Amino acid sequence: MNAVTPAAHRPWVVAKFGGTSVSTRSRWENIARIAAAHRARGQRVLIVVSALSGVTDLLKRIADSADDEAAARAAQAEIVRRHAALVADMQLADPQVLAPRLAEMERLVADTRRASRALEWQAQVFALGELMSSALGAAFLATQGLPDTQWLDAREHLLAQPLPNQGAWSRTLSATVPAVPDAAFEAALAARGEVFITQGFIARDGEGRTVLLGRGGSDTSAGCFGAMLRAQCVEIWTDVPGMFSANPRLVPEARLLARLDYQEAQEIATTGAKVLHPRSLGPLRRADVPLVIKDTNRPGFPGTEIRAIGSDAAPCVKAISARKGVTLISMETVGMWQQVGFLADVFTAFKQHGLSVDLIGSAETNVTVSLDPSENLVNSDVLSALAADLAKVCRVKVLAPCAAITLVGRGMRALLQRLSGVLAEFGALDVHLISQSSNNLNLTFVIDEALADELIPRLHALLIRADALRAEDGAVFGPSWRELEAGTPSPPAPTWWRAARADLLELAAQRSPRYVYALDAVRANARALMQLRAPAPATTALVDRWHYALKANPHPAILRELHGQGFAFECVSLAEIDAVRAALPQLPAERILFTPNFAPRSEYVAALALGVRVTLDALHPLQHWGEAFAGQAVHLRVDLGVGRGHHDKVKTGGATSKFGVALDQVDEFRALARGCGARIVGLHAHLGSGILDASHWRSVYAQLASLAEGFSRIESIDIGGGLGVPARSDERALDLAALAGVLAEVKQAYPQFQLWMEPGRYLVADAGVLLARVTQTKRKGRVHYVGVDTGMNSLLRPALYDAWHEIVNLSRLDAAPAHMVQVVGPICESGDVLGANRRLPECREGDVILIAQAGAYGAVMASHYNLREPAMEVII
Ligand code: ASP
Ligand code: MG
Repeated sequence: MNAVTPAAHRPWVVAKFGGTSVSTRSRWENIARIAAAHRARGQRVLIVVSALSGVTDLLKRIADSADDEAAARAAQAEIVRRHAALVADMQLADPQVLAPRLAEMERLVADTRRASRALEWQAQVFALGELMSSALGAAFLATQGLPDTQWLDAREHLLAQPLPNQGAWSRTLSATVPAVPDAAFEAALAARGEVFITQGFIARDGEGRTVLLGRGGSDTSAGCFGAMLRAQCVEIWTDVPGMFSANPRLVPEARLLARLDYQEAQEIATTGAKVLHPRSLGPLRRADVPLVIKDTNRPGFPGTEIRAIGSDAAPCVKAISARKGVTLISMETVGMWQQVGFLADVFTAFKQHGLSVDLIGSAETNVTVSLDPSENLVNSDVLSALAADLAKVCRVKVLAPCAAITLVGRGMRALLQRLSGVLAEFGALDVHLISQSSNNLNLTFVIDEALADELIPRLHALLIRADALRAEDGAVFGPSWRELEAGTPSPPAPTWWRAARADLLELAAQRSPRYVYALDAVRANARALMQLRAPAPATTALVDRWHYALKANPHPAILRELHGQGFAFECVSLAEIDAVRAALPQLPAERILFTPNFAPRSEYVAALALGVRVTLDALHPLQHWGEAFAGQAVHLRVDLGVGRGHHDKVKTGGATSKFGVALDQVDEFRALARGCGARIVGLHAHLGSGILDASHWRSVYAQLASLAEGFSRIESIDIGGGLGVPARSDERALDLAALAGVLAEVKQAYPQFQLWMEPGRYLVADAGVLLARVTQTKRKGRVHYVGVDTGMNSLLRPALYDAWHEIVNLSRLDAAPAHMVQVVGPICESGDVLGANRRLPECREGDVILIAQAGAYGAVMASHYNLREPAMEVII
């Protein structure tokens, strides 16, 4: 305990533990540790607990048993057994601590009100779960170094108030406690002690009867106590690390939401996520008490913090949630147009049936509303009664089950123009209702329930993943679920440049900016591909010929290295052919594959004269320069109709890409080839770059092979490159074993064709880094800039493709990150940003900044724009 904090000033922490957190002895030891840690920090603690997991459900069986006494008795026996087991495990001094509650349960089961399921009797039954768990907890904590733990009856302090139009059911079983800061209560409790344990879920009404706060209501109790005590913080301890940008079971890439304001959190809690009861936040927001969601299994992890946040944060979509079991009521009337009082009549019916309307959409002759899934709705035939009433004024249609998909984030209106991709996703579906909240915090679409699970990952990829990457500010988006599952915090992957830090700093001191390439890394990548084998027992090489697509990086040392590893070369210009021949004068010409696009006639003629293999990807050369191809063997690049890749600008398939011969022109191409005496000996397709999913090549391979069967002289199938290199830790590396598997499958079906591939970036991206030095730093408003001595003139990928490159301050590699910065170059273009929203340590003039994965499409794309010399290359 902190002896220097005067007792009167010791702040309160309210810590709530849910069912699974109170079900075993080891979980209770955990609670004791957490409480002790708070006390050591000089805080007072109020622990709020749920019933043991599953116990509320068992109590519900008693509450619902009506005339089935056997069912009630079975549930009772199970509840007794569960608690007895925990009592034994806890080795409590007094094993009879629960005796009074068990006796009460016996009385309630035997009570004649069971048959009528009287509401106040039900509330007493349900309350038993929390009364028992808190009694056990108080006794156990006393044995765990917290001897002065006191048990509080929550009903003495939480007073429920009936709401206008609230039915008897919810007044008793889903009551509301309007909790506000209560200095007298705080003082009285402080005078009594420092550690308390009480029940979630239960309160009393004006007549002193037990009432419930609704299923999952223990969070609400914690919120109420937190507000009344004006706690320093309310902690909700659960089994997950916090709130996520989507349900992680559907979207493993979902990001932890590190910080939310009350309203955003309220929207997310209300629209789907089960982590927090939405009612818990209201009292805390009014009392300005922060709430933190913490993971019992990872207590050191920061979790999700919910508090008031300034509204100047940039608008972005923070979460996609889905509520299933939504009922839609569509009301059709011709008379509605300009008819006074129609809506009033309709809504009166909802009010009379005690149904709360959630979303409303209205058109000239139709009003559609959604009802929240509520126990009230499921447990009664209120819906048919409502429909009967509504039928008097309009035509009614009930649509169920539906799902409401909600996008949550501040400033939703400002985001509307970015939602076109989303609307395209929905375009194919039947959207029953769209509603944009008037608080500008959410946009909701109601669709058939069956479609929801499939749609959510797609929406997440479209909206949140991109935002989270852009706002690389750990303050909003934490790690992804997948990263957390893999174990946190994931240490930076070992890379050659971390190991070579001292040498790199030396190289940068000699000259900056600078591209540095590690041949060892190129070799390792090359070997990994060369070793690709069909799964055992077959051990033959799968890819008969590997070409290095040298447009990625034509540095002669790299060309020689890859030649040494057995690679042939794929060139897209005559100058590239010259570069290969200059670097490797002995290379036979047939080891070069020329695959240009819209090249002039002269380049084809020159390549054929050299004996290089030539790929055509248009009809024009055969139509207009046919004599040049007489007697020649050519390869045909086809467009399989779709593009793939990490950015629109790297997709090289589909009608909007300029590459390849469309499938419906292949016959014409063949006729032209026959006409001028050219032989088609290979088929080729390359659909795009940065692909991390191995199955992509199966489909390209299979499509080309089946197309090839219709030709007579095809020898090789070239399925292109595009093998992706993951940039961020939440991306999974391309699974080479999986790639081998899919290639082997197709090869088995088409053994007559050789398989060719032509990776470029895969071999060299991570073998190169760009080193630059800090020139100036600047702050404008809340934005910090770190300027370096080169930018898009050396590395164009970020500006051209929105590419994400890891950036570190090599001079301060292990220093803790300071604020978020924009890493920019010296070029007079707003797009000259190498990395947006990065967390770097404090950067000083002269520091060496390393931009990773710059070995591909770096130096070769550099320019002298602004007449600034781009980075020179050096090999290590
Ligand atoms: N035990 C109650 C329920 O299961 C309240 C809670 O756990 O939050 O609904
Ligand atoms: Mg809960």
